[in-house]
Amino acid sequence: MKGDVPYMDSKILVTRSSMPGMEEYIDEIREMWDSHWLTNMGPKHQKLEEELKKYLGLDHIELLVNGHMALELTLQAMNLQGEVITTPFTFASTTHAIVRNGLKPVFCDIDPVTYTMDAGKLEKLITDYTCAVLPVHVYGNICNIEEIERIAHKYELKVIYDAAHAFGETYHGKGIGSFGDASCFSFHATKVFNSIEGGAVSYREKWLGDYLYELKNFGFHGPEEVSEVGANAKLNEFSASMGLCNLRHVDEEIQKRKKIVERYRERLEGIDGIRLNVVQDGVKSNYSYFPVVFEEKQFGASRAEVFDRLAEHGIGARKYFYPLTNTFSCFHRRFDVSKTPAALHISKRVLTLPLYAGLGLSDVDRICDVVVSCKG
Ligand SMILES: *Cc1c(COP(=O)(O)O)cnc(C)c1O
Repeated sequence: MKGDVPYMDSKILVTRSSMPGMEEYIDEIREMWDSHWLTNMGPKHQKLEEELKKYLGLDHIELLVNGHMALELTLQAMNLQGEVITTPFTFASTTHAIVRNGLKPVFCDIDPVTYTMDAGKLEKLITDYTCAVLPVHVYGNICNIEEIERIAHKYELKVIYDAAHAFGETYHGKGIGSFGDASCFSFHATKVFNSIEGGAVSYREKWLGDYLYELKNFGFHGPEEVSEVGANAKLNEFSASMGLCNLRHVDEEIQKRKKIVERYRERLEGIDGIRLNVVQDGVKSNYSYFPVVFEEKQFGASRAEVFDRLAEHGIGARKYFYPLTNTFSCFHRRFDVSKTPAALHISKRVLTLPLYAGLGLSDVDRICDVVVSCKG
């Protein structure tokens, strides 16, 4: 018999958006009732861009309405054609940004330890049509940057990182956004840092930022000239203000997340059939997610059983990422999922457990009690 947990408390959601105190936000937006400047790269937008550059340790960033448009417009700005090598163990956005640009995604398998692109499998996928590589820093785990960039350099491919999970991280002391040709961040409500919705691109060459500035504003190149078929992807002033407030507290929030992750590790480390996330050398983590992989044979319960048992106890976990993007019905079986076996394996077994700065350590204990009670 699997043990049971003797209490049923209030619900715990898988995440909860960070918010500043209401007064702090009101103070931040107050002057907008004088200026009436609500969007179109106003003072809040400009201030947030400056503050983020400092915080992220970057020379150049461009703010956008969300992380998806950061990816989509970056690919457009690079004027790419052909195939983009990426991974299917990611959020819909990564693959959609490629397809919506008329490019063909080619799926590389993931490394079963970091869940990021298996750089050892990258070179074999390169063809005459390959134009770029779009790897993802999954759960804030940093990709094999050295190897990916070595190969990309050899074949003259662009490297664009999906850094939606990697806000504020550093690799050997350098801001994570300083690698590759560009990195795309998300400031969605569920991310470590949010501006309600929002995103940014960090980039190496100045022309890319100038181009993105136009593309996010319909392609306007001055008041009377439209030089590109742009989109509308501007971050509005209310969102930028939320970003300014949340940025003041993000370090404190990451510290709280760290404590929570440490508690999870204490409780779940070493249990047969459970695999916790890797700790990477040289990486300053943002503790964005707490993924757990359940191997049914050793653990004695499947991912589905753990998910359901948590739900019975009012605890939300997330099958993240499941399903793989190369199996989405919108792609009508165009991609062969058997070519990414490690991604498929992980996707069927992983759960991310609740993690946000306001989660109490007693809640972590309660979650772990339920997980442990599933062990067969
Ligand atoms: C959240 C996310 C995105 C998209 O960001 P939005 O701001 O929601 O548009 C892209 N990629 C990954 C991996 C994400 O988690």
